[in-house]
Amino acid sequence: NKKVLEVEDLRISFDTYAGEVQAIRGISFDVKEGEVVAIVGESGSGKSVTSQGIMKLLPTPPARYKSGAIRLEGKDITGYNRKQMEKLKGSKMAMIFQDPMTSLNPTMKVGRQIAEGLKKHTNLSKDKIHSRVIELLTMVGIPDPDDRANRYPHEFSGGMRQRVMIAIALACEPKLLIADEPTTALDVTIQAQILKLMDKLNEETGTSIILITHDLGVVAKMADRIIVMYAGKPVETGNKHDIFYNPKHPYTWGLLGALPRVDTDKKEPLKSISGTPPDLISPPKGCAFANRCEHAMEVCLEHDPAMQEYGEGHTAACWLHHPNAKEYLDQIMEKH
Ligand code: SF4
Ligand code: MG
Repeated sequence: NKKVLEVEDLRISFDTYAGEVQAIRGISFDVKEGEVVAIVGESGSGKSVTSQGIMKLLPTPPARYKSGAIRLEGKDITGYNRKQMEKLKGSKMAMIFQDPMTSLNPTMKVGRQIAEGLKKHTNLSKDKIHSRVIELLTMVGIPDPDDRANRYPHEFSGGMRQRVMIAIALACEPKLLIADEPTTALDVTIQAQILKLMDKLNEETGTSIILITHDLGVVAKMADRIIVMYAGKPVETGNKHDIFYNPKHPYTWGLLGALPRVDTDKKEPLKSISGTPPDLISPPKGCAFANRCEHAMEVCLEHDPAMQEYGEGHTAACWLHHPNAKEYLDQIMEKH
């Protein structure tokens, strides 16, 4: 499969009064045609900065691209300015956010908002644009689309507004859709419907999707590949089987432990991972998860574990399983 997006060693910092916050400390991944890649992590893990960094939505300053490359269909877009990005947005890549109300225009009819991108990026006639708008509203499951196209966002429920956002995003058949917590604001039933819709669109249109979420459960059905992020870096990557049935990183174990059980009626309280992520102004020299990890060893405090491969496409950065952990440990012990 062709690569739609390649991200190579992306590093992004924010300048603050307290110092430079290293929000993204090196992330590399690619997204192939038709693939759904999920980026999972707690808030502050860098998953949203990654998606906004790719879309160039971060104001610079205070954001700074420290290093790395972003390629869309092989073309380096790392240095693209706002105007160049505007051209790509909507046509080649599109984004949907957690709260559609912040991105929808409250004073413009929904049909017109969907038509805008089509006017901007295509040469379709007025009639063709209108029928495409109706087609899109139908595709995202909005009933009575002819009537609905003439209504304003506030006349839609939260779930329906998110469907409108998806229709806007997909209007020009982008190669890549970035969905940042697209269902977090919705109740569980609607959440499932929206995810099902995105899954269906991915199947039918072949649009690749980057799904950003804090919830591993959300990715269970849809994702072809999963990137677990912690403190600005991936700590584990793999397919669904790797992550759900053979996870290697204690942080992934923690996220899985925080999932609601579906196989039991017992309402157990969700476990969350205790402790807080490290300060990214001065990240620890060893493993960033060490202060919260039940398995932390001496080596973890001294050396940041490198990504290690555990199977095709399954990587994790943790000393627990690392073949060289013992050597490092011996070296450290000798020094003391
Ligand atoms: Fe825990 Fe050490 Fe693995 Fe980090 S490297 S996750 S501290 S065992
Ligand atoms: Mg799929």
